[in-house]
Amino acid sequence: MSIIIKSEREIAAMRKAGRIVATVLEILKTKVRPGMKTRELDVIAAEEMTRLGAKPSFKGYRGFPASLCVSINDEIVHGIPGERVVNDGDIVSLDLGAVFDGFQGDAAITVALGNASQQAKELVATARGALGAGIDAARPGNRLGDISAAIQHYAESREYSVVREYTGHGIGRSMHESPQIPNFGHPGEGPLLRKGMTLALEPMLNIGDWHTRLGADKWVVLTGDGSLSAHFEHTIVITSGTPEVLTAL
Ligand code: MG
Repeated sequence: MSIIIKSEREIAAMRKAGRIVATVLEILKTKVRPGMKTRELDVIAAEEMTRLGAKPSFKGYRGFPASLCVSINDEIVHGIPGERVVNDGDIVSLDLGAVFDGFQGDAAITVALGNASQQAKELVATARGALGAGIDAARPGNRLGDISAAIQHYAESREYSVVREYTGHGIGRSMHESPQIPNFGHPGEGPLLRKGMTLALEPMLNIGDWHTRLGADKWVVLTGDGSLSAHFEHTIVITSGTPEVLTAL
């Protein structure tokens, strides 16, 4: 499958969707606090997206029941919000997708609550840095493998593992377009990156090894060894120079 090159008009639409995702994540970041139920975060996400004229991408996607994924501690991705209460010291991944004017934005942050351990905070900082390393490698003339390798090198050189069974992805009119973007790989391999490609990069880093297991609800993905995991994601567009982050404020 080929990678779709977006027109300036399409990129402008994706910029709007991306900005809505960034705005809602920023609101969630300021509101999340110990004692809250994860369901409350989902309600805020849905209300804010409605207020901004967007629709949640995740709700109904393959039957996913919520607007937001909330994944705590050893949960990596795809946590369903519900009655679980977030606690002081937890690390909480908030993953959000919005569709506006037919185009998608997709981003995630991980927030360390209150007195999180130094170990947890370092994991979160490194996952954020790994996303930055991937974004830096997303330049025309590079190949997809350069992004994957940059993320892997950033994480593994700091002694974290990268989750292998879940990947970043192309994005546009659909939330998941070609190509899949693994968070590990070899420089110089894979498709050539070109201006106008829109990609969602999303490293997931574990303190332990990279193996995962599926939770009882068949949605939430957890680390196989119970170690902490952190996740960051941005939707970007490849330009002639430094990529533009579409899910930034
Ligand atoms: Mg994504």
